[in-house]
Amino acid sequence: MPSAPVPRNEQERLASLQSYHILDTATEKDFDELAELASAICDTPVALISFVDKDRQWFKARKGVDISETDRALSFCAHAINKPNEILEVEDARRDKRFADNDLVTGDTNLVFYAGVPLVDNAGYPLGSLCVIDREKKQLNDMQRSALKVLANQVMDKLTLRKKILELQESKNRNSRLNKLLMTKEQEAMQIIKNTPMAMALHVGLDMTIRFANDMMLKAWDKDELVFHMPFAKALPELAALDFPSTMRQVYRTGIRYEQTEAHMSYEHQGEIKQFYYNYAFTPLKDENGQVWGILNTAFDMTAVVRNRLAAESAEEQLRLAVQSADLGTWYINASTREFIASPKLKELFGYSANEPMGYEAAIAQIPDEHRDRIAHAVEDTLNHGTAYDVEYPIVGYRDKKLRWVRATGNLFKSGGDTAAAHFSGTIADITERREDEQRKNDFIGMVSHELKTPLTSISGYTQLQLARTIKADDKAGQELAIKSKRQVDRMQALITGFLDVARLTEGKIRLNKKEFDMATLFDISAHELLAVHTTHKLIFHKVEAISIHADQEKIEQVLVNFINNAVKYSQSGSEINVDCIAQDNHITVSVTDQGFGVSPKDQKHIFERFYRVDNAKTNQISGFGIGLYVCKEIVERHGGQTGVESEIGQGSRFWFTLPLGL
Ligand code: ADP
Repeated sequence: MPSAPVPRNEQERLASLQSYHILDTATEKDFDELAELASAICDTPVALISFVDKDRQWFKARKGVDISETDRALSFCAHAINKPNEILEVEDARRDKRFADNDLVTGDTNLVFYAGVPLVDNAGYPLGSLCVIDREKKQLNDMQRSALKVLANQVMDKLTLRKKILELQESKNRNSRLNKLLMTKEQEAMQIIKNTPMAMALHVGLDMTIRFANDMMLKAWDKDELVFHMPFAKALPELAALDFPSTMRQVYRTGIRYEQTEAHMSYEHQGEIKQFYYNYAFTPLKDENGQVWGILNTAFDMTAVVRNRLAAESAEEQLRLAVQSADLGTWYINASTREFIASPKLKELFGYSANEPMGYEAAIAQIPDEHRDRIAHAVEDTLNHGTAYDVEYPIVGYRDKKLRWVRATGNLFKSGGDTAAAHFSGTIADITERREDEQRKNDFIGMVSHELKTPLTSISGYTQLQLARTIKADDKAGQELAIKSKRQVDRMQALITGFLDVARLTEGKIRLNKKEFDMATLFDISAHELLAVHTTHKLIFHKVEAISIHADQEKIEQVLVNFINNAVKYSQSGSEINVDCIAQDNHITVSVTDQGFGVSPKDQKHIFERFYRVDNAKTNQISGFGIGLYVCKEIVERHGGQTGVESEIGQGSRFWFTLPLGL
């Protein structure tokens, strides 16, 4: 049995058939009636509307058969579609070699007669056929043939109409899905615009009617949604006065966007005239023809930002003026790049002209040798560890070689905690005059002390003689008087010695008389003397191992005695004072620990300075000149040691000094 040849354009034909969405659909009255009509007109028991699928033929309507499809190989229609414009008429299939052994012919179906009109779509693809079948030999007359063709056209029309309806239905569904999607998107967009932190409004028409404004814009206007659909001037008279509508009209006419940055405006807001700064823009909205149909009004409230900046600028200006009027120099060092920038005043202090370049290394080199390391270390300490910088030092003028004293204070500034972006800056003041004053004062004190020393030594001798005489004469009243005078003279002598020490120290005239001695011996001598004098306190000298030291014994004793005298002076009677000395690594540490008033952290920083005295209710009762600790520090430092204090107010203090071993 030869199968029907497959049409040339089979792929396209099948695609066209698929596009009708007819295969495997339920029966439809319209198609059934057409099959009925075909069977009636052609007087055949069977009529079919058949579609030729890839491997089968499927019947949309069938009269006189029960099956809904057959194999394509058996299909008569598959033959019919090969000649789309003709009726395939087989009078007696049993005698036609194309069909004689077809199962439909030889089997129970008993097909003898077949006539099929191809169902051809608009594009010319034959999709199937309308056919009539009989179990006996037959021939159609012309009227029947024409009727069958008309009916086949009807089938095709129905099919096309059905397809159109389906397409319409589909596009309607798609549209409604799209509409739904659009509606949700629009709602989402509106929600976003409504809550966006940028003020937004939409204006339409030449009177700038407010179509919409989001919450931020309503807040800026101090209005509610009642202004929607109102012309600008009517809704917002206070802003209309600022000429906004005419600017918007201009944008409307020209189609050119208008923008302002930090525009200052004052208008009534919540019943008060207030100042605002806004970044705002009027953007024209155009249709597909480029015609402006509305204006998008967007605005950012910059008031807080601008106010903060103005305040910072004014603070900066005030600081600049303060620095300028105090005649202070300033500098800047970038912590990572070490870039150094000096202000004109600082350059002037260092002997440069204002426009001359001045490098950090050159500046450091202008500090005399004996002070240079101290300052360079202080700078590094601040840059590396953020230590507060407060130093006094002399400099030799770059050109004039004049010696000037300066005081520099500064800090490490970290922008936003970022150490990499840190910089070290501060102010520098000329203190030459103050230093000269101090020098004059020192000279004067030194001179007076020196002048007083000789007569005082004589007076001391006389009072001692006087005392000896009154003791011998058993003159009780005279003796008391002589003791009192001696006490006063001793105090004066101690004072004069102190002043002379200060004067010598500042002039660098102090001479150390170094020799080898044992710290244990020094402790013994001091203990022997001081235990006799300070009977008011529990003075405890802890045992010291024999430690040989190379130093000025007299001066070291002076330091120890001074620490102990202070401990007695600044603590309650009856309290303990512990004195000890330990050797560690390459130095010894001597400490005097009391249970006295203590020193606040603020005062601890200064008590070793010359003439510094703590100013509080307790210490004010105790006389002194603030030179003892200064002298101690100078003596110790000249030995290469260090002094220090640890203290807590109300708990007591530990004053200590170190001396290097093996020198
Ligand atoms: P002076 O005792 O003559 O005032 P010093 O230079 O010896 O001078 O001491 C400076 C300041 O340090 C004192 O005025 C005092 O306030 C404080 N001070 C010194 N030693 C002690 C101590 N052991 N306890 C509390 N304060 C002390």
